[in-house]
Amino acid sequence: MSNEGNLMKGEAARGLIFNEPLIFKKGKKGRTGCDLPEKLFPSTKPEKLIGASLLRGKAADMPEVSEPEVVRHFTRLSQWNFGVDSGFYPLGSCTMKYNPKVNELAAGLEGFAGLHPLQTDETAQSALQVMFELEKLLCDITGMDAGTLQPAAGAQGELCGMMAIRALLEKRGNARKKVLLPDSAHGTNPASAALCDYDVVSIPSGPDGLIDIKKLKEAMDKDTAALMLTNPNTLGLFEKDIKKICAIVHAKGGLVYSDGANLNALLGKARFGDMGIDVCHVNLHKTFATPHGGGGPGSGPCLVKKELKPFLPVPLVIKSKGKYSLKWDSKNSVGAFHGFNGNFSVLLKAYTYILTMGAAGLKDISEAAVLNANYVRAKLKGYYDIPFDRYCMHECVLSDKIQNEHHVTTLDIAKALIDRGFHPPTIYFPLIVKGAMMIEPTESESKETIDTFIEAMIEIAELAKTDPEAITSAPLNAKVKRMDETKAARHPDLNCCT
Ligand SMILES: *Cc1c(COP(=O)(O)O)cnc(C)c1O
Repeated sequence: MSNEGNLMKGEAARGLIFNEPLIFKKGKKGRTGCDLPEKLFPSTKPEKLIGASLLRGKAADMPEVSEPEVVRHFTRLSQWNFGVDSGFYPLGSCTMKYNPKVNELAAGLEGFAGLHPLQTDETAQSALQVMFELEKLLCDITGMDAGTLQPAAGAQGELCGMMAIRALLEKRGNARKKVLLPDSAHGTNPASAALCDYDVVSIPSGPDGLIDIKKLKEAMDKDTAALMLTNPNTLGLFEKDIKKICAIVHAKGGLVYSDGANLNALLGKARFGDMGIDVCHVNLHKTFATPHGGGGPGSGPCLVKKELKPFLPVPLVIKSKGKYSLKWDSKNSVGAFHGFNGNFSVLLKAYTYILTMGAAGLKDISEAAVLNANYVRAKLKGYYDIPFDRYCMHECVLSDKIQNEHHVTTLDIAKALIDRGFHPPTIYFPLIVKGAMMIEPTESESKETIDTFIEAMIEIAELAKTDPEAITSAPLNAKVKRMDETKAARHPDLNCCT
């Protein structure tokens, strides 16, 4: 009987480990990967092309390598990396789901990939149609009225939303001074509020991990512009009193922003707009299946209720008499957020993903994502401390409290998972849980894979008791062993692992 999950532990997790020197250390003087035909590329002296004054005194020290050397070099580097296509990646708050390849196919279609952003609207009708329809789909999914696809990431979507809130309040006569944030908030939230010149006020979470309504009531006043929250919050818990929370903020003339990074838990089930939220962003690269991690490109559309629509960035994508066009004049707009129209290929992937899933498929996603997270939580109960032990949404948060008795920490557990062929979960976030491990299995994993991960977590918990050094010395199978993480970030030594 085959069991794909089991392939991930034992020998297969170790793989073939090659040594790969820096490319500068490979090759030989005079070696090249390709020869250009003399007829097409006559060897013109560089000084003739750019002028002698612009030439460097000594030729740059470039690697001189053959084609197979280049191919093997970069293939090996890619194999040293870990991605969703190579294994289980339960990085909480990041929704590292499998990204269907059909999305890439759509984004690579020549008619789209070959478009130039300066083409006229008439010659780019299909691209405009995709943007117009994607905006509508996202409004439908989140229960909002209008939006912009420009922001290049969730963080920029937050900035856009907070700028729109500020602009609306200014128009009403008073931009106000403060923004309230639960203490479990992602770091980008206070940063976005501060960039809009607001003072950030932290609201402590209650013992149930949710916003403390009493404290919120005390803090909410006529100097407060908005409450920024995440629902489900960063502990993976649904803010069940969200309607009441919105009413408290609205009663004093404030607005409510919801960070939509955890939308994978709500698809087809609940909508921000129906909860009373005024502005949100969604992370297309998380919820809507675009490969991410390592810096993008991402996309963080910002969606708003109609009273905030006049402040959205330009250009807006509009449809009139069956034709699509970009509308640049919008007198109250907060301005443009991106050159042209955002990261268009990410928009195409999200559009393809949403259409291939359909409404019923989107519902299945959140049901499976929530089921999987609860399965992990229930199976690891007793082995790990679960600070808020009740039904969670699409992710669960554990801590290293039990392992601390044997001087084993969350970092050690993360490293021991690497030895067992898994990407570690998010660690030490949210900050309000000491030694947090935030596990988000997503909907796209098989039960066998999740079971293998659970087995590894249990094995680690048991070793932490009986042979703690086996865990604190991890990783032993990885290419790079335990590092001084600060030094590795500040003074990277690319030679260290060859
Ligand atoms: C990922 C994330 C963000 C930021 O999104 P980016 O797309 O990385 O800028 C904000 N809030 C939460 C809760 C997140 O998980």
